[in-house]
Amino acid sequence: MLSRTFARRAVSHIETLLAHAGVKPTSHSPGLSPTIDPSTTFLREADGSYASGHIYSRISNPSRSTLEEAIASLEVAGSSSSSTIPPPTASAFSSGLAAASAIMMAHSPNCHVVLPDDCYHGVPAQLIDVMENLGVSWTPCDMTNISEVTDCIETSLARGEKTMLWLESPSNPLCKVSDIRELSKLAKGIGGDSVVVVVDSTWAPPTITQPLLLGADCVLHSATKYMGGHSDVLCGVVITGGGEVGTKLGESVRSVQTLIGAVPSPFDCFLVLRGLRSMHVRVERSCDNAMELARYLVSHPKVSAVHYPGLPTHPQHEIAGRQMVRYGGMLSFEVEGGRERAMDVAAGADLVKRATSLGGTETLIEHRASVEPEDRIISPEGLLRVSVGIERAEDIIRDFEVMLDRV
Ligand code: PLP
Repeated sequence: MLSRTFARRAVSHIETLLAHAGVKPTSHSPGLSPTIDPSTTFLREADGSYASGHIYSRISNPSRSTLEEAIASLEVAGSSSSSTIPPPTASAFSSGLAAASAIMMAHSPNCHVVLPDDCYHGVPAQLIDVMENLGVSWTPCDMTNISEVTDCIETSLARGEKTMLWLESPSNPLCKVSDIRELSKLAKGIGGDSVVVVVDSTWAPPTITQPLLLGADCVLHSATKYMGGHSDVLCGVVITGGGEVGTKLGESVRSVQTLIGAVPSPFDCFLVLRGLRSMHVRVERSCDNAMELARYLVSHPKVSAVHYPGLPTHPQHEIAGRQMVRYGGMLSFEVEGGRERAMDVAAGADLVKRATSLGGTETLIEHRASVEPEDRIISPEGLLRVSVGIERAEDIIRDFEVMLDRV
């Protein structure tokens, strides 16, 4: 009989880690699916200690810890330096925006966030309505303009603020790509450890981009999107690097997680873990389909612009080629005729579903200007955002053909 006591063999390929995410069978719990532990409280030993390491579920829970460990390992998986650099840590939250708020709260007060001028609209909304009251100020900035970024960082540092450079790549919904390596180097060159670099990498999950390996201190994902992958769970994660800045921020984020308590339920953690196990193949297929759809839309006479980093005409195509393994499953395009025409196009969707959110198996279309706050619309009026799903590309394209023909 084969001995089962051989040493565990190290695995570093991200696809392999994903396929086994959260699975830790033991002789006591031999299941090959991650366990859901709904307990809110855990047994103390006779001496008062907690042998399991868990006390109360707002502080930590076995299902959440499993998810956090799995996600932390993905951000450096496959790198030749992953065994020599200090490992990252992750904290999971009940949504992407709860995770974003934890990063800002962890750095407040007297914190200044230099934010992309075309950032996902929920982040500036949160800054205005909540964070400004907690001592967090912010400046919108064009992250493709190095002198503007330099100026924003220097001005903030000169005011004596704790400065945070917040990147989002690709950006929602204009698909602008920020050069994470160059901008991290710039920020650290200006302010050293006084500038914290955060990347919202929701649109580029770790099989596509690993910002910590490009010099960022912290990564945010709305796990509601590609990680969950089935449009059935809200979750957010913050991953901080093992360096000094990342470790300090990670500890503060963990403290906010415990004290504010915006944590995902054990079942939500299970759903995200289940999503992770197939994420690499889903993302791969979405990227293939997005490339085909982008090529189709570019040649359509009623389409005036297509924003997709995989197109050679995209202004940051070359940067995307360097920092993204694939060009992503998100794109946006503009139709001639403004809001009314764009709304008409979306109204003709059939297989493609007209709904917000992204990163699920199904293709979604949304008119963005109509969901953005009226005083801060960043999308052109004729812009439609598409989350490209994992259907057959020809079926997706057929739906777009009909949508565009009928207007
Ligand atoms: N970041 C980005 C780039 C997003 O697109 C979203 C949501 O669409 C969020 C953060 C917020 O995530 P959640 O909806 O899980 O709070």
